[in-house]
Parts: sequence; structure tokens; C-alpha cells
Amino acid sequence: MFQAEFYDGLSARAKSVWVEVKGDSLRVNVEGQLQAYPLSEINVQAKLGSTKRLVDLPDGARLEATDVSELEAAMPSKSAFFWSKLHYLENHLGWVFISLFCTIFVGWAFLQHGVPKLAEYVAKATPPSMEKRLGEQVLKGLDHQYGYFSASETKKARQEKIIVALNKLCSVNDCPQYRLEFRDGGVIGANAFALPGGIMVVTDGLIALAKNDTEIIAVLAHELGHVKQRHAFRQSIQGTLSGLVLAAATGDVSSMASGLPAVLVQMQYSRSHELEADDFALKALKKSCLPPRAFADILFRLQNQVPGSNGKKSESKKTKESPSEAYDPISDMLSTHPNTIERIKPFVEAKQAC
Ligand SMILES: [Zn+2]
Repeated sequence: MFQAEFYDGLSARAKSVWVEVKGDSLRVNVEGQLQAYPLSEINVQAKLGSTKRLVDLPDGARLEATDVSELEAAMPSKSAFFWSKLHYLENHLGWVFISLFCTIFVGWAFLQHGVPKLAEYVAKATPPSMEKRLGEQVLKGLDHQYGYFSASETKKARQEKIIVALNKLCSVNDCPQYRLEFRDGGVIGANAFALPGGIMVVTDGLIALAKNDTEIIAVLAHELGHVKQRHAFRQSIQGTLSGLVLAAATGDVSSMASGLPAVLVQMQYSRSHELEADDFALKALKKSCLPPRAFADILFRLQNQVPGSNGKKSESKKTKESPSEAYDPISDMLSTHPNTIERIKPFVEAKQAC
């Protein structure tokens, strides 16, 4: 039995009543008149902070009470249980923080681990022709729409030499299908990219930065590793999926509006993708009788180049010229590219097979 304010639904006047739960009905004693309502037709409204609880009765009348726990216990519907738990959580700051932490953690874990797995699955299910079309669209965007690239100024004879050397590497290695493109990279400077569908772009800056063609081939062998594993395509799918997840979570779609070409140029492959590509490059260089050291040399110079120098002046932030002299675990940890020296180590240490 509990006390409540009764509103008959006709007048705004409240009447103080006693309410009793008996069997499967609710009995309200209104000024000596007993009214019974079946519990199944009663709706107990959700708790809102510390305000009084509202109970809707089937004839349009309403009860207002401080404590309706007796009534709630008599009608243990799922929703009442849910709302009471939610109310409990809302009123305990500790639980609020735990819930917040869990939400952030689950979101982070999904972006970190779920999305890459999903991207891998989607990539496998996508026909190569579609990936190729995407790559062509991206290159078109980089060439015209976004203006990152302009026509290469590298002489045709030099381009031809590089093409022949890469073909030679692939003649003894299990290379994926690829198409090599030469471009002036403008602000991007010295770089090489693998776009979806096997398109590889090498910039004039990179060719200028290289001390010999073997270094260029070494970088392209690394890019072939990315092509083989379809990293660029997987990364694009991942970017789209992450954008969708973030847009769903925040309601902000502007982050998704940024074009894919820009994302691809600025993107950082995950460490595991880089290591997979490195692994392919190391094996390919060894099999082709090329010195693996060439990759270490150019990667070291690439990471230390001044941004925007277009590769023509590769002033090093570190004065040391050779990666083997420079290996120092402490500066490795502190350096701006903490993983570079770790990455080039196997190339420095590899013995040339022939
Ligand atoms: Zn890479």
C-alpha cells in the first residue's frame, strides 16, 4: 500500500489517495470509492531524476507518487526492469564514467581491429576490375582535380631504364600486376605510392633523391609489396568504413566529405603493412642479386628530407650519412621516425646473395 496524488483526468485538482496492489489489479480508494484497474493496462512512466513517478491509468486518470516500487515489483515487465537499471546507472557517477569509458573503448577497439578485418574481407570480395577502376579515378583526381601531380620532367630514356630494371626484377620474382607512372610530385616531393589496382606512381623528386637506379628499384619493390597485398585498396575501404563509424557516432558527415585522393596521398600505412611490403622488397632484391642496402640508404634519406624540398636538396636533420653508423637505440626512440631505423636494419644487415 502506498500514498499517491490522484488526478481524474477531468479536473486539475489532485486528490490524496491510498493505492493497493492486490493480485493482478491496482486498487485506488478515491474518497471512499474503490476503483480497480488491471495491472496489464497500467503504464508506469520512466523515472526522471528525482521527480515524482507518474502512473497512467486506463481511464485517462493518473497517479503521482514518490515511491512506486511496490507497483513496479508487481508488474515486472522487461521495460520496467530496463528503465530502473538505466535510472540506477544515471544516478551513480562512477557508473556513468565506467559506461563512458566502455563506450570509448569499444569504439576504439572496433576502429582499430574490427574495421581493418572488415576492410580485408570487403577487399577480398571485390572484383579486381573494380579496384582498378578506383585506382584510375584516384590517379585522375591527383592529376587534374586536386592538382598534386603534373607531367614528369624525367627524361624518357631514364624512365625507360627504370621500367626495364623493374621488369627485370619481376622476371625472377612473383610480382603482382602493376602499371608504373612517372609524375612531378610538386609539394609531395620525393615519394612513391601504390594506388588501388596496381598503379604505382614515382615522383621526379624521388628519382632526383636516389643516388642510383637500384635505390629507385628498391623503393618500387617495396611498393610492389603493397600492391601484392592490396594495401591501398584495403586502406581506402578502411577509411570509408571508419568515416561511416565516426559519422554514425558523431552525426558529423563533413569528415567523410574529404576526397579519397587526398586521404591516399597523406595516408600512413599501418606498421604491419609496412613490414609486409618491406619483407617483399627484401626477398625480391636478394633474388634479383641487387644489394638490399640500397633500400636502407634511400629510405633513410627519404625520412630525413626537408618537407617541400622536392628531393633536390636532401638536407638531413641528422648529419650522419650512413644508416649503419647512425644506429643508436636511444636516438632511435627519440627520433621523429622511431620505426625507420628498426625497419631498415634487416636491409643493412642482409648479405647480398650473389
Ligand atoms: Zn610503404
